[in-house]
Amino acid sequence: MEEAPSPSKNRLPDRPEPNSTYTSTSNTMSTLIHQEPPTAAETVLQPTDPRLVPVVEDVLAGRRLSPEQGMLLFETPDLHTICGLADIVRRRMHGNVTWFNINRHINYSNICTLSCSFCAFHRKRDEEGAYEYSVDQVVEEAIKAQEAGATELHIVGGLHPRLPFEYYTDMLSSIREHAPKLHIKAFTAVEVVHLQRKSRRGHLGYEGLIEVLRDLKAAGLQSLPGGGAEVFDDRVHEEIFKSKIKSDEWLDVHKAAHEIGLNSNATMLYGHVEKRRERIHHMELLRTQQDRTLADWRAAQGIRSEGGEVVLTGPDELYPGERLPMTGQDGLSTGYFQTIIPLPFFPDKSALEHLPGPTGLENLRTIAVCRLMLDNIPHVKAFWIMQTLDMAQVMLQNGADDIDGTVVWYDITHVDGASTHQETTVTDLKRAIREAGFVPAERDTLYRRIRRDGSDWRIEE
Ligand code: SF4
Repeated sequence: MEEAPSPSKNRLPDRPEPNSTYTSTSNTMSTLIHQEPPTAAETVLQPTDPRLVPVVEDVLAGRRLSPEQGMLLFETPDLHTICGLADIVRRRMHGNVTWFNINRHINYSNICTLSCSFCAFHRKRDEEGAYEYSVDQVVEEAIKAQEAGATELHIVGGLHPRLPFEYYTDMLSSIREHAPKLHIKAFTAVEVVHLQRKSRRGHLGYEGLIEVLRDLKAAGLQSLPGGGAEVFDDRVHEEIFKSKIKSDEWLDVHKAAHEIGLNSNATMLYGHVEKRRERIHHMELLRTQQDRTLADWRAAQGIRSEGGEVVLTGPDELYPGERLPMTGQDGLSTGYFQTIIPLPFFPDKSALEHLPGPTGLENLRTIAVCRLMLDNIPHVKAFWIMQTLDMAQVMLQNGADDIDGTVVWYDITHVDGASTHQETTVTDLKRAIREAGFVPAERDTLYRRIRRDGSDWRIEE
């Protein structure tokens, strides 16, 4: 089996060496540079919008972009420069590698006490199509996934009004017992808050969150997915997911998870009623929380900082130690946000069916803006289930370094409402990655490299 090159200190051997060349295929960009570090934006890219010149210079120098610069990234007609810049940053961080994993999604129930207007997944208990899996059914799927060689189980569902807290802890411990090789990534922030209430610790606030997460961790939970963030804005919250938790609660759940050593992801659901300014605000809140989480790690790695900012996207010389955080490194005793996953809104069958949803170019731009603004989150995922595999391929050239995995039973949302079971083969994923010009590398949930022999696999030392 072909293998991707191993990273050295998270730096990849096929990254351009100092004094070598960045090549761009874009017509609007110059194609070569021979400077280290580049001293002027024009030497690497040729922005057709002069307002972008300071933005390009800041990114190349490893300086954080302001919210106003973030707005410019959304508003400029010069999409080529934005995407080219995101590609430079992505190659600095991950070289030519694109990550994928072999995972299984299980949506244990679509019964939900809420009715968010953008959601086509939820049902009421007596509604046609409502379902819930028993613990045994979930375990059966987990065993099948392990036998098929999956490394991760991704489990989320609606806010079920009747299932007791023990259902969730039993589910985790039974999977741990019967499919011990699988990493269990489960429960979005709103589900965790729901479980806090179920376990009668709702009144305990943040301490109650810590307690419930400790219980879930003890039962087998290993990380949190990033779902349910939507867009961190009160106006949007009021308009389309009024009863769901607000941004401060979502961020608190992830802070608590990080505090007890669980890694997590973050999402942003865009292309509905939100404005681009609200997307930037969403990114700012994530960025600020991640700065705090990574403060000790940054100091331990000798990364200089003005005002506590942790910027991972600069030129190599800014990183005397590690460039990217990884569980177990010096200064990292907590979890952190590993990946940002921008999720385009699909109007079909939701209460917002009248909205058009985002266009392909808007999806491309949003991926690139996420890479440039979220300078302290290591990975950007082009989630092919929602972006389509074809579009995800393009996104790999515009800031994304992860394409997710072979996914089955993904019922939450799907392109065109065509199928509730979506899966692709490893062969197709690898072909898509190679066609985009990258080297496929299989990872586990924590971005450790996997060595595989059929359905058997191990984590590379
Ligand atoms: S988005 Fe989640 S919380 Fe909202 S209705 Fe759908 S399943 Fe329920």
